[in-house]
Amino acid sequence: MCIFCKIVNNEIPSNKVLENDDFLAFHDMYPKAPMHILIIPKNHVDCFHDVQPETMAGMTSFIQEVATLVGIDKSGYRLITNNGEDGGQEVKHLHFHLLGGAKLPFKHLTDETQKNL
Ligand code: 5GP
Ligand code: ZN
Repeated sequence: MCIFCKIVNNEIPSNKVLENDDFLAFHDMYPKAPMHILIIPKNHVDCFHDVQPETMAGMTSFIQEVATLVGIDKSGYRLITNNGEDGGQEVKHLHFHLLGGAKLPFKHLTDETQKNL
């Protein structure tokens, strides 16, 4: 069983923010922003590329609910999912990083220096 499935089953403790029958939101262990929450489907899905669109429908409103609950809906936030090896995904259970609570640094994707990667 993967580490996030263990968190869903309460076999590993987590600092929970919100949950319903299908989704769970909990604080990231190593926050990269003042607010850094991970949002996952309770049923194991490896990554974004494998998720059913129907799951994403519920996920979308759940993420919006979490952002509102923690008070970053108006100030703004960043939503990230790393997919697979090249995407830098370390935990192989689909998760969205919800980051906010400060103006987040961002190197624009059209930045000239990035084009030679
Ligand atoms: P990835 O690199 O797969 O997109 O992100 C994995 C995230 O999970 C990382 O930000 C890491 O800090 C977080 N993480 C890994 N293990 C645990 C854990 O046991 N508990 C919590 N709360 N976060 C974890
Ligand atoms: Zn899992």
